[in-house]
Amino acid sequence: HAKHEGRGRAEMYSAALALEAADRADLERDLMLALQRDEFILEFQAQIDVANGSAVAAEALVRWAHPDRDLVMPGSFVPVAEESGVIVALGDWVMDRVCETAARWAAMGITQRIAINISTRELSQADFFLRLRHAIATHQTPPTMLELEISESLAMEMEPRILEQLAALRRDGVRVAMDDFGTGYSNLSRLKELPVDRVKIDRSLVRDITTSAEARTICSAVVGLIQGLGLEVVVEGIESEAQMDMLRVIGCTQFQGYHLARPTGEQAYLDRFGGLLDSAEPDAKGRVLFLRQPD
Ligand code: C2E
Ligand code: MG
Ligand code: MG
Ligand code: MG
Repeated sequence: HAKHEGRGRAEMYSAALALEAADRADLERDLMLALQRDEFILEFQAQIDVANGSAVAAEALVRWAHPDRDLVMPGSFVPVAEESGVIVALGDWVMDRVCETAARWAAMGITQRIAINISTRELSQADFFLRLRHAIATHQTPPTMLELEISESLAMEMEPRILEQLAALRRDGVRVAMDDFGTGYSNLSRLKELPVDRVKIDRSLVRDITTSAEARTICSAVVGLIQGLGLEVVVEGIESEAQMDMLRVIGCTQFQGYHLARPTGEQAYLDRFGGLLDSAEPDAKGRVLFLRQPD
């Protein structure tokens, strides 16, 4: 019975954006309950630099592990959490978990950063940076272990106050990435004024590069511009070797995508990427170790 109801709920959540106000209120309440019941989990997805064969960062991605349903993905609840303000409490939970995890990894000798997604609603809270610094202090997290991913549309319209706070965090060693680049109103000339270290090129920009010369040209120009400004490029949503080969020709070396690694729980992540620092040597086929799929 619970299973059946569970499926119904899952469908409801997947259509969350189209919900009537009453259903949204239900979802908001369920999200708050889920927080109290500790039903959220983090998965981690590797960002790999193929120039030296190592994972440079893990992106933390939130999921809702409801007892009666399949894992609920953030696309189904983050938008509602943002609109209702629940994202502030959820974001605090994510921040705390990431700071704790990053401190633990650092103590294990792991130097990979953990990247955390920050929504508009969170960043516009007056005390956002205070709360982040509190989480860092609580867990004694090395700031160099952290990266903030801020979406392009948000990054382009940041107030001076937020820009200053981000710049201060960067001086302490926290990295800042512009997420989903290529999906918003890309104001390329504004890029050099923003306190960012790296730019994550959205999947939509690279989806067709193996079949469309036009897509290739656009991608190559965008990558050249970002690199020309002295920023790192990470390409998201790599689903094939052919895509990656083409992007390497264009000059990219940092990739994230299902082709390299899907998001997984912490232990599975560490089993695959936690010990790579000394062992990023090519195998018999000349591929670096991380490209070997688990048996
Ligand atoms: P994002 O930050 O752009 O994260 C990348 C999304 O693309 C993730 O989806 C990831 O699983 C997916 N992805 C990675 N590689 C591939 C690929 O090769 N192909 C395809 N088709 N997809 C790929 P996910 O985990 O469902 O997250 C969706 C979005 O939800 C994220 O987009 C982010 O904006 C938001 N989100 C996730 N976790 C958090 C969080 O803790 N806080 C906040 N505020 N937002 C979050
Ligand atoms: Mg992201
Ligand atoms: Mg993204
Ligand atoms: Mg996205």
